[in-house]
Amino acid sequence: MHFFSSSFKLGILGGGQLGKMLLYETRKWDIYTKVMDASDEAPCRIACNEFIKGSLLDFDAVYNFGKDVDVLTIEIENVNVDALEKLEQEGIKVFPPTKALRTIQNKATQKLFYTDHDIPTAPFTRFAYTSEISDSVANGGLRFPFVWKSAQFGYDGQGVKVVRKIEDLEGLPNVECIAEEMVNFKNELAVIVTRNEEGEVVTYPVVEMEFHPEANQVEYVICPARIDSEVSKKAQEVALRVSESIGHVGLLAVEMFQTQDDEILVNEVAPRPHNSGHYSIEASYTNQFEQHIRAVLGLPLGKTGSKVAGVMVNLVGAEGYTGNVVYENMETILNMEGVTPHIYGKSQTRPFRKMGHVTIVDENMARAREIAQEVKQTIKVISDKS
Ligand code: ADP
Repeated sequence: MHFFSSSFKLGILGGGQLGKMLLYETRKWDIYTKVMDASDEAPCRIACNEFIKGSLLDFDAVYNFGKDVDVLTIEIENVNVDALEKLEQEGIKVFPPTKALRTIQNKATQKLFYTDHDIPTAPFTRFAYTSEISDSVANGGLRFPFVWKSAQFGYDGQGVKVVRKIEDLEGLPNVECIAEEMVNFKNELAVIVTRNEEGEVVTYPVVEMEFHPEANQVEYVICPARIDSEVSKKAQEVALRVSESIGHVGLLAVEMFQTQDDEILVNEVAPRPHNSGHYSIEASYTNQFEQHIRAVLGLPLGKTGSKVAGVMVNLVGAEGYTGNVVYENMETILNMEGVTPHIYGKSQTRPFRKMGHVTIVDENMARAREIAQEVKQTIKVISDKS
């Protein structure tokens, strides 16, 4: 099949920033794209060839969208999988495959998959409804603290809450969920594994993530992770095992905890480009977005090593500001060495909304990390009125 400057159509479900960055690559290679998103203001709109407005969870919308493309991929997991399954049966190539997506989409199913496949993960209990948790606490089946996670539709920490006392359960939605043992981790790590249909597999270096304590969003992603080589090797091995068992095609970002005893526990996976791989645009031989396109088209995979040390800072909306976005002090950070900002194209900011990111590269990791801190202290995502 010819992909380049041809009638081939790549469909992408979801039109957010991950899709927009995928489109930098399809534009680079002149691959025709069709994107669907529920919002008229989706960041992808400016860069795709065709844009369809529609709900990603609606069977008919997804089915009708997918019928018209040759290969269908996603930039968000919350899509109608029944429609994808039908498209797959009708011969459309769907990557990640529906089976893998079904396992991943529901956190309870995902966790059960790990236990079934001997993949190390934190112990957990599944509940059909949040309201059932208090009984379990009362009869001693569950002990504080634990981490409540909504089984479905959680994103960017919104479906996650640390529960230290019974009152912390108040206000949580009464949905299918898991209660997971709290891990006293040393580090949060991630490895992006890429696989094409022919079974060629490559892994990116282990990255280290630092989270904002309140927002539960990544503050810095550091590549390579500043961990010893044994831990790094173990993390790569675990990530490869997850990838092999799940049988995805395309990227699979594997998020892990490094425990105090240097064990690796899988937290969760995402079968798509991931925040932990944004650094690769500036720092790697092949960035994660190009790699995903290569994988879903069955092309040879690219080299995953880094050319320089990379640190990524998320640009999230500052607290206290909602409205038309203003990026304050852009000129100042553009004066710093090795700094590249990415602006996602969302006109409205609100507290903790992901609005962009900045990558800092340097031959020296310590220097990159220092500049990253300066960037973080300098740039502010605010609105024109508070
Ligand atoms: P999301 O799907 O919203 O990204 P995660 O499951 O990755 O949710 O959880 C968000 C963050 O919450 C994690 O990155 C980690 O910092 C913290 N967290 C999640 N599970 C645990 C756990 N079992 N123990 C301690 N912290 C956790």
